[in-house]
Amino acid sequence: MKLRTLFVAASLAVASVLIAPAPVAAVEPAGQITILYDAFGTDAAMKKDWGFSALVEISGKRILFDTGNDPDIFAANVKAKNIDLTNIDFVVLSHRHSDHMAGLNHVLRVNPTVKIYAPKEGFGVFGSSLPSSFYRKDESLPPEMRYYGGKPPEVMKFGTAWPRANVELIDKTTEIAPGITLLALVSDAPGTRELKELSLAVNTADGVVLVVGCSHPGIEKIVEAAAAINPKIRLISGGFHLVVASDEVIARTVATLKDTFKVENIAPGHCTGEPTFAALKRAYGDRYLYAGVGTSLPLGPGTGSVGRRGEGPALQQDDLTTYRKLARREDPFGILKARSLQSGISHL
Ligand SMILES: [Zn+2]
Ligand SMILES: [Zn+2]
Repeated sequence: MKLRTLFVAASLAVASVLIAPAPVAAVEPAGQITILYDAFGTDAAMKKDWGFSALVEISGKRILFDTGNDPDIFAANVKAKNIDLTNIDFVVLSHRHSDHMAGLNHVLRVNPTVKIYAPKEGFGVFGSSLPSSFYRKDESLPPEMRYYGGKPPEVMKFGTAWPRANVELIDKTTEIAPGITLLALVSDAPGTRELKELSLAVNTADGVVLVVGCSHPGIEKIVEAAAAINPKIRLISGGFHLVVASDEVIARTVATLKDTFKVENIAPGHCTGEPTFAALKRAYGDRYLYAGVGTSLPLGPGTGSVGRRGEGPALQQDDLTTYRKLARREDPFGILKARSLQSGISHL
């Protein structure tokens, strides 16, 4: 009897091993960033135009970051990539410049209730509000000369260009989902002073994946904010706003990204600028990931250059010496100089 019980138990154990699925290693869900809008690229099915948009698929989420410059071109590019906008988790609008948000009308046509994160700005196009205590009162005036007859609402609401859209305004850096943070920074460059911009920082097991729109607050400031979440920056994708910067400013920015923040991989686009593409390519070698319109950058562990670790690409010794020399100077990031140079041409 005992023996028989043992036999049955053993048979059951064997059967359960045969039936049980093979153990699956826990891996981070493979992700990718697909560039949907930019003015350069090699994909013949995609239209090129100034502006930026990317579909960021990461940590189990599908995030539409910015919507490009023209709703028809945006719609055509989304279609060419076979992207279903009805099942995105949310939209991030980096800032109020039209080359990043003009495609929103198309998104809302397809998916009118999608959650949209946008920067909170006073009297901005995304709407805003202020406590009515903000304005000075004069109680000696008769009611007909007073705002709201002297009885203002507690909170004054200001209109938006998309009154029916499901917009959540972001005022300060906020983790909107586990590991997914919107960095809220403000530009102080002439021409875009007080412009608020959101950047997307996703903390993964391999470091932060950072997606930037135009980097009006300064790419260094944005990377610094991302490094506060996790100093290991795995990838930056998007516009660095160096399209009119001098060689000196570009060199210092490259040195800062590579030497100070040790950004591992770089996938610049949009307003990064042609000379900056060249300088970053020289500095990053095969860790410079080409990201023209239509490109999909794989984010899976160990996929492509993004997941690789170890020794960086060889910088030319001359380049390195120049970058480091420049980086040691006063105004090390060249922000002040860049800003004075960009005065008047900084709306991009
Ligand atoms: Zn832009
Ligand atoms: Zn802009």
